[in-house]
Amino acid sequence: MKSWAQVAIPPLAKRFEMPTLNIYDTAHQRVCSVEKKDRYRVYVCGITPYDATHLGHANTYLAFDLINRYLQATGSEVLFVQNITDIDDPLLERANRDGVDWRELATSQIDLFRSDMVALHILPPDHYIGAVEAIPLVVDAITSLENANSVYLLDNDYYFRVRSDSEFGERSHLSQTRMLEIFSQRGGDPNREGKEDPLDALLWLAKRPSEPGWDSKYGIGRPGWHIECCAIALGYLEIDPTQDTSIDIQGGGSDLIFPHHEMSAAQGRLMNGKRFAANYVHAGMIGLDGEKMSKSKGNLVFVSQLLKDGIDPMAIRIALMSHHYREDHMWVSAELTEAKAFLDELQVALSRMEVAPTDVVIEEIISALSNDINTPRALKALKSWIVDTNQGAVGGKPGELSRAMDALLGISI
Ligand code: ZN
Repeated sequence: MKSWAQVAIPPLAKRFEMPTLNIYDTAHQRVCSVEKKDRYRVYVCGITPYDATHLGHANTYLAFDLINRYLQATGSEVLFVQNITDIDDPLLERANRDGVDWRELATSQIDLFRSDMVALHILPPDHYIGAVEAIPLVVDAITSLENANSVYLLDNDYYFRVRSDSEFGERSHLSQTRMLEIFSQRGGDPNREGKEDPLDALLWLAKRPSEPGWDSKYGIGRPGWHIECCAIALGYLEIDPTQDTSIDIQGGGSDLIFPHHEMSAAQGRLMNGKRFAANYVHAGMIGLDGEKMSKSKGNLVFVSQLLKDGIDPMAIRIALMSHHYREDHMWVSAELTEAKAFLDELQVALSRMEVAPTDVVIEEIISALSNDINTPRALKALKSWIVDTNQGAVGGKPGELSRAMDALLGISI
């Protein structure tokens, strides 16, 4: 699938040292150092195209954009892959409800998502892969799992035997009761009769009447969600046979920790014998009026609507960055006004001939980002610099600060 337009990253002056990135790892339940490498393999779960792009999505893709930018600024290459679940129950349900063709709904939402990502200055993935185009990879992945004795047939559907992964549960750290609850809330079918374990996940769903299906050696049907991501990640991230971990970062919103990332990780480990990801990184949830922003509650704020209302996309970026990426928080529209005022002040300060020293600000931004992508701390450094500049401090290089902000924070003025 076509990705979106490339976003230029200005070079950062070589004299700035880039410390190793430290990031909170869900599997280890602490901040961990990301091993220094020449090349990173990053997989971030994409949207199901029926409600793009709300601020919860924007917050997630912004978090991984900042991680991507940081790793690239260390001089490493980042191979970045993202999927798009362009066939799944929620998409079909929405298309059915609205009386539109599911393909048209998906295409329109994918187009909207791409234009929102461009406006927000999010670096595009190297491979942007749809579930439908990945079906041959998914079929091969199911075959690998069959070879590992991890697949069984129930009626005409194929299931993944979760207990065949001896490490199942070690990425999400939940009790069995909690796993069952969440599995049921997030598309799982724990109560289906005939399953070996209530948590076993669908790999291939046989075609239902009035639903689409694709021909395969497992019959006409469509892929399960977890195997889709696992197959795309392992298929496109050029796994290094000499390493004992398949990929470096598996990312997404914190609502994907279980079952989605636990299942993909278990399947990936059984497919090639390697630990699936070295780091599991998750962004917080954005709410509105006291509740999590979600399609079922109908309390979504869309990026495209804010842009239509004339909001500067950089102000949206800054408003989101004023919270730490892992922090669940409520969206308050007044923060957009504050972000716009900050952006204007920044622009005025950067246009001065004489500005406060900039090296120290750039170093503080780098240090804040290296410490679990601490954007509130990075923005605070910029605010102090504006105050110092307005008070007549001199000695800085505004062009260099401007380039560093663009490269590291994606703030382009
Ligand atoms: Zn995924």
